[in-house]
Amino acid sequence: MNATTHAIFGVAALVGVSLFTGEDPALYAYPAAAIAAWIPDVDNPRSRLGNGLSRTKSPILDKLIRPVSWGLKALSFVLFRTVGHRTLTHSLLGVLIFAAIVSPLAPLVPGLYAALLAGYASHLFADALNIRGVPLFWPMGKPFKLLPGGVRSGGAFEFVVAIVMVLATGYGIYELYPAIGRSFDEFLAFTP
Ligand SMILES: [Zn+2]
Repeated sequence: MNATTHAIFGVAALVGVSLFTGEDPALYAYPAAAIAAWIPDVDNPRSRLGNGLSRTKSPILDKLIRPVSWGLKALSFVLFRTVGHRTLTHSLLGVLIFAAIVSPLAPLVPGLYAALLAGYASHLFADALNIRGVPLFWPMGKPFKLLPGGVRSGGAFEFVVAIVMVLATGYGIYELYPAIGRSFDEFLAFTP
């Protein structure tokens, strides 16, 4: 799945979890879930995060993000050269390690912690729809697939899956924020 599809799945997972728990996520939780959904692909040096962060127009911001960018590139190189793409970071073990790394956030900002975990886990779900599947039990077992054939990464069907997820997420947000739902209903009532 490409970066856009993963970001959509990340936000969808956050909305799903929020509907389940009945707690509205804070606004920052949305980008957090989308970015967390890119993290497992850091094991691919050509991925959104594995390639480092792109330069910005602000020199100050550039100075701040450069160490993070180098860190991501180094991590990407090490993972790619040791375990390879779609291995550790795409497994349940990877989820546990990520949960442990970000665990200091749990007592401080539980909403952010939940958003990061939802985003990360959504990546495995999305990749499980792919032809290759995901190695959930890495380093053991066969890749786990949710569909018999699987969605080809970057293909037309992936686009359809992404659109369906956007619609489902939109509906989820509508359910999550009754105020948005009400004004939307009023808007519909006004249109002839
Ligand atoms: Zn992936």
